[in-house]
Amino acid sequence: MEYSGLTTDQMQTPSASTVASRWLVVTDLDGTLLDHAYDFSAAAPLLRQLEQRGVPVVPCTSKTAEEVEQFRAAAGLRGPYIVENGGAIHFPHPENWLLEIPHQPGPGGGFVVPLGWPGQRLRPLLDSLAAELGTQFFALEDLSLEDLMARTGLSPTGAALAARRRWSVPFVLGEDQAIEAVEALAAARGLKVLQGNRFAHLIAPGSDKGLALAALRRADPRRRAVLALGDSPNDMALLDKADHAIVIPGANGPHPRLRSAISAGRYQLASAPHAVGWAEAVATWLALWPDEGH
Ligand SMILES: [Mg+2]
Repeated sequence: MEYSGLTTDQMQTPSASTVASRWLVVTDLDGTLLDHAYDFSAAAPLLRQLEQRGVPVVPCTSKTAEEVEQFRAAAGLRGPYIVENGGAIHFPHPENWLLEIPHQPGPGGGFVVPLGWPGQRLRPLLDSLAAELGTQFFALEDLSLEDLMARTGLSPTGAALAARRRWSVPFVLGEDQAIEAVEALAAARGLKVLQGNRFAHLIAPGSDKGLALAALRRADPRRRAVLALGDSPNDMALLDKADHAIVIPGANGPHPRLRSAISAGRYQLASAPHAVGWAEAVATWLALWPDEGH
C-alpha cells in the first residue's frame, strides 16, 4: 500500500443528484495533504464528504499522472488533477466539465490539456544551466531506483511511477549550489526552476501551478471560487491565484520563503502539519458556505 488513507470499503461513489459546487479545492500533495510517510488518513473522511457534496478536490502537484492516479484511487477522488508542476491537466471524468479549452484524448476515456514542454526538450537545457554555473545537477531520471527510493521513501513501484516524467525534469542541486542562483539563471535564459520538497524542477517558462489553475478555470467558468493549499515555494503561483490560500506548515513551522506572505495576511497558516491541518482548515473554510453543492 503506497498511500495511507481510505480503505476500499470506505470509498463511495457520489450520488447522481450531486450538484456542481462553486468551490474547487486545489491542493498540493507532498508536504501538504501527505506527510513524509505519504499518509493522509486524518483528511480521508473530509475528502469523502467533499466528493459527496460535489466539491472537487483537485491535486496540483509535481507528481506524475501515474502517481496521482494511484493517490486518487486511494482517496476516492474523481475530479481533474494537475501534474508535474502545471505541465498538464488531466480530466478523467470529462462529462462533469465544460472543457472550453483545447484538449486531447487521455488515458481511460478522459482528456488531457497539455500546458508545458516535453521533458526531452527540457533535459538538454538543464545540462546547459549546470554548465553555465560550473556545477553538475543530478536529474531524477539519472538516479538509480535505489537512490530514488532512498531520497523519496517510495517503494520500488512508487519510485518507478515517479520516474515517468513527461513535462518536467526534477533534479538535485550540487552540494554548494544555492537554489536562488539556479532560479535566477533559469529565468535569465527564459526557463523556470521551482523548488519542491525533495527536488528542484525545471519546467517550461509558460507553465506553473498558477497558470494551470488559470487554465482549469477557463476550462469551466462555472467553477469560480478556488481554495488552494500548499507548503512550498513551488506552490506560490497557485496560492497567489486562489480566492483563498492556506499554507500547511511542516514540523518546524511554515517554509521560510512563505512567511512574509503569511505575515502580510495573503496566506492563512493552518494550525497543524499535513492532513490534520489540511482537514481542519478546509472544513472551517467551507463551513462558511453551507449551501454550496446542495
Ligand atoms: Mg509540497
